[in-house]
Amino acid sequence: MIRGSCLCGRVTFEIERAIGPFELCHCTRCRKVSGSAYLTWLGVRREDFRLIQGADLITTYERPVSEAPPAYRTSFCSRCGSQVPDPSNNEPWFEIPAGALDDDPLIRPDKHIYTDFKAAWEDITDDLPRMTKKEIQASRNASSKVIRFTNPAELARPPGYSNVVEILRGRIVYIAGQIAVNQEGQLVGKGDFEAQAHQAFGNVGIALRSVGCAPSDIVKMTVYVRNMEQIIPLYRKARDRFLGSTTPPSAPAITLVEVAKLFSDDFLIEVEAVAAAE
Ligand SMILES: [Zn+2]
Ligand SMILES: [Zn+2]
Repeated sequence: MIRGSCLCGRVTFEIERAIGPFELCHCTRCRKVSGSAYLTWLGVRREDFRLIQGADLITTYERPVSEAPPAYRTSFCSRCGSQVPDPSNNEPWFEIPAGALDDDPLIRPDKHIYTDFKAAWEDITDDLPRMTKKEIQASRNASSKVIRFTNPAELARPPGYSNVVEILRGRIVYIAGQIAVNQEGQLVGKGDFEAQAHQAFGNVGIALRSVGCAPSDIVKMTVYVRNMEQIIPLYRKARDRFLGSTTPPSAPAITLVEVAKLFSDDFLIEVEAVAAAE
C-alpha cells in the first residue's frame, strides 16, 4: 500500500499501486497551482484509490473551460492548501499529485508535458521525452477515433486491461512475438524475469514506433510466459509500466498463457501485439 497525505495531515489517502503515466506538467495552470515549475501527475486506477480521511476538508476548484472540455480541476486541503487527489473523480483511471505521496510509488516520471508553456526561467535538463500541447492533443485524438475499449457490465472487470476492443477504422498492425533480445540478437536478463519482461515490452514499443504507433494503439496482446506462479506480480509491474507510458494508460484486450517452452530454454516471456491506427 502506498500512502499519501496533505501538509497538515488531516487529508489522508492510499493507493494499491500506481500504474502511470507519471507526467511532469509545465502548463500555465499547473504552474500556478504548484507555485513552481511544474506539477507531478501520477496515474492510478479508480479501484486502487481510497480516501481514508478528510473528505470534508477537500475543496475542488474548477476553472471555466477555455478551449474544450474537460475543465481544469484542482483539489486541495482547505486547511493547509496542499494539493490532494480529487475524491469525486469517477473515471476508471485518473491522475493524482505525486508530491502528496508519503511512500515510494515505485515508478518514475516518464515524460514532460506542455513543455511549450514552461516558465522562461526553467531549463529542463533530463533526458525524458518532452511533449508540446499540439503533440499531446494529436496523440490523444488519434487513438480515441480508431479504437474503442469497453467492459460489459455482465463480465467481471479485468485488472488493467479490457474485455472488448473495437477497431473503428484505420490500419491494423501485427507485431510478431518479441522476446528479451537486444538489437544484436543477444539475450538480455538471463534468469531474470523482470529484466526480460522489460526488454520484451520495450521491443514491442520499438516495433510500434517504427510504424508511427504507441502503446495506446494496441488492441490485443498475447503474452506467453514460463512459470506463471512465480512471475505474476513481476509481469504486472512490467506490463503496467509499458501500458502506463501513454495518456490515458493503454488497456488492450490481453491473454496471458503459461507455456512449457519458448524458442530457447533461456527465454521466460514472449509478447505479441496487434495495434490499430489512423
Ligand atoms: Zn491539510
Ligand atoms: Zn498542467
